[in-house]
Amino acid sequence: MTSSDDVIECNGCEGLVPDGEYPGFRPDKNPGATSPGCWKMFCEEVLVREYSEWNYPPIHQLTVDTYWAQHPGEKTPQTTQSVIVNLVGLDLYLHKGMNPETVREKLDGLITRHKDEFTWLEPPETRGDITVVDVAEADDLDEHTALVRDWARAVWDAWKPHHPTLDQWIARALES
Ligand SMILES: [Zn+2]
Repeated sequence: MTSSDDVIECNGCEGLVPDGEYPGFRPDKNPGATSPGCWKMFCEEVLVREYSEWNYPPIHQLTVDTYWAQHPGEKTPQTTQSVIVNLVGLDLYLHKGMNPETVREKLDGLITRHKDEFTWLEPPETRGDITVVDVAEADDLDEHTALVRDWARAVWDAWKPHHPTLDQWIARALES
């Protein structure tokens, strides 16, 4: 980050994240979804530990899906698809108890079979009171895994108005 010790509220998750710019931040890819400080914490404090310290633990896919489900951004063809796919992923892990490989297969199948059918889910105003700021506090992989699951549950619950629609998408994901 550049210079400042100030914190700001992230556009996406409302977590209190460092203010300032981050060179790896490319908001053009998903306008308004997140904030430089939040993206930096996610990349440099959460993902880097999953990659280097823990060698891609089974929780990794849930970490990524949860981050994006909490940071949906604005409506584009890409975000319209990814919001649904990320949230279906959350359900398959949390409620269907699937392993990461099976979740990935189901999500890939869903995209292949229904590519042009996804419709935009208007994001709820608040999207869970656990954020990357909390997840970054983990001392070890066990605590990290538990925190990511709590985070995913909080984000899933926040999308409650869309659960009936999501149930239909989940059923489609389970068809194959
Ligand atoms: Zn955020």
